[in-house]
Amino acid sequence: MISSPAVLDSCPRCGGLILVAHTDGIPARADAAPLDPHQELAAILDGRFTYDVQPLGLPRKPYLMYRHSFRIARSTREWKVVATHKCPPGPHRPTIRQPPTTLVIPYASASPDIPPF
Ligand SMILES: [Zn+2]
Repeated sequence: MISSPAVLDSCPRCGGLILVAHTDGIPARADAAPLDPHQELAAILDGRFTYDVQPLGLPRKPYLMYRHSFRIARSTREWKVVATHKCPPGPHRPTIRQPPTTLVIPYASASPDIPPF
């Protein structure tokens, strides 16, 4: 199954910022704003899927990993969590869409410039 890294795009309907990716062959469109555990629970109760934004590859690119019950049950959250995009209620004005932005997650400095000895 094909997974593709997430790109930052705008929703064609409401113009909100969304992450667009393929997750195990399934297209995924998620809100760009990360959720805390309470917001994640509210999203699941709302019938939305949640995803881990997991950096993979070189250069590191964000992949949306579907959060199944085992991932959710893990007590520590390793990655930022986002939920499926749902357009806010109310009328939407069409916006001029920009081309999607490729995202690369920079490394924290892995080797310090000054050795500890
Ligand atoms: Zn939308």
